[in-house]
Amino acid sequence: MYKAAEKLIIVTAPSGAGKTSITTYLLNKYPRLSFSISAATRAPRSGETDGVHYHFINLESFRTKIEANEFIEWEMVYEGNYYGTLKSELKRIWDAGKIPVLDIDVKGAIHVQEQLGKNCLSIFIQPPSVDELKKRLESRGTESPENIATRVNKAGYEMSFSHQFNKIIVNKDLIEACTDTEKVILEFLGW
Ligand code: 5GP
Repeated sequence: MYKAAEKLIIVTAPSGAGKTSITTYLLNKYPRLSFSISAATRAPRSGETDGVHYHFINLESFRTKIEANEFIEWEMVYEGNYYGTLKSELKRIWDAGKIPVLDIDVKGAIHVQEQLGKNCLSIFIQPPSVDELKKRLESRGTESPENIATRVNKAGYEMSFSHQFNKIIVNKDLIEACTDTEKVILEFLGW
């Protein structure tokens, strides 16, 4: 299993709540934190690079990896799109003496938490409201209207799991949310 010193941080939230902005802030500020690159079956968006944002793989390779037990968790986050955290990715980061930061969905976060226990800090980023979340997804301009509707519908359900995580940070103001998240992480890591 996982060694006591092998800590990790999960930042989870409904899509559009700001978790990627918050993780980017943390990763830029603390070089000892390292983004855990998930495997995903969706197509790369413009500006995304294979092996940087995700390991973009096809469904067949994803299934092979499930069967070979290569994932610590995986989910079909959206209809037909699979995402998963590879055990080899966590090992790569721990071997480099760093702390993995996982930007994953709510269900995946619960599964990792179950396996890592006290070695894991889980932070739930809560949008101020579902309406605000919709506005943010629309202004991001990366998703189709159908995709936005799917994500917004799912958000209410995901928010019902917020109490399962170690900390809830309400992202009303991004700068405040970043510093609040930072404080929680520094305390957990004893930095
Ligand atoms: P996107 O398609 O916008 O990049 O990501 C969609 C959702 O999938 C986000 O909520 C993201 O956090 C989540 N996600 C990304 N990687 C993983 C993963 O490895 N496992 C799980 N369970 N969710 C992931």
